[in-house]
Amino acid sequence: MCRHLAYLGVPVTLHELLHAPAQSLLVQSYAPRRQRHGLVNADGYGVGWYHPGRPRPVRYRRAMPMWADASFAEVAQVVPAACVLAAVRSATPEFPVDESCAQPFTCDGWLFSHNGRIDGFAGVEEALRREAEPAVPDVRAPVDSALLFGMAVRLWRRGRPLAEALAHVTARASALSPGRYNLLATDGVRLAATARGDSLYVRRTGEAVVIASEPFDGDTRWRPVPDGSLVTADAHGVVIRPIEEVVCTDP
Ligand code: GLN
Repeated sequence: MCRHLAYLGVPVTLHELLHAPAQSLLVQSYAPRRQRHGLVNADGYGVGWYHPGRPRPVRYRRAMPMWADASFAEVAQVVPAACVLAAVRSATPEFPVDESCAQPFTCDGWLFSHNGRIDGFAGVEEALRREAEPAVPDVRAPVDSALLFGMAVRLWRRGRPLAEALAHVTARASALSPGRYNLLATDGVRLAATARGDSLYVRRTGEAVVIASEPFDGDTRWRPVPDGSLVTADAHGVVIRPIEEVVCTDP
């Protein structure tokens, strides 16, 4: 399983968010504390963020471990952002260690990450592909998570809200095949995440909201998200509901 996080709030540098904290995503790439599957997240990483005046996010990915990328750590010190989604990867064994499989995935204005795996992927791949938006570069990546992204993009392009689409994809994919489905997404002004099968935490302060696979510091305001929940967060607050309450009936 991978570790991922999303941030929305006052601008911080990517370094302050991803490298500096005591249990930062960087530390989680080699010493995660709450990860239920896999020991390290060394099979690539990615960071997406929104830059003022650009409707689409900027996305940086590498197939290398985050800890090996000293150049990005340097640049991150001078890149501020108010909305960020980042992930470190522990590849599911049947899929390649390739930059195209590193998340977040992106399309139009969205960023997306899947922490988990689809069990028996070969048996459900065709069924999932029929529900995924086809002509999107990241949907073609040779990894299970890409099809979940494709399913979400299809719903978003049909006007479904960010969170509703994540709830639907989580419920639909887990009905087709067991597995672990922690999804995380943003459109730049709101965050949404599902917890199904792995850890998830949320922290809201006066300045920002963070949704993360695990706390990146010792702040006592981190709250665990119950398994089976959908989290939505924007400038007005955080809401946690059961996934099934939100699933759309007519996708
Ligand atoms: N299944 C996805 C992959 O192989 C995500 C892996 C994970 O969460 N560890 O990249």
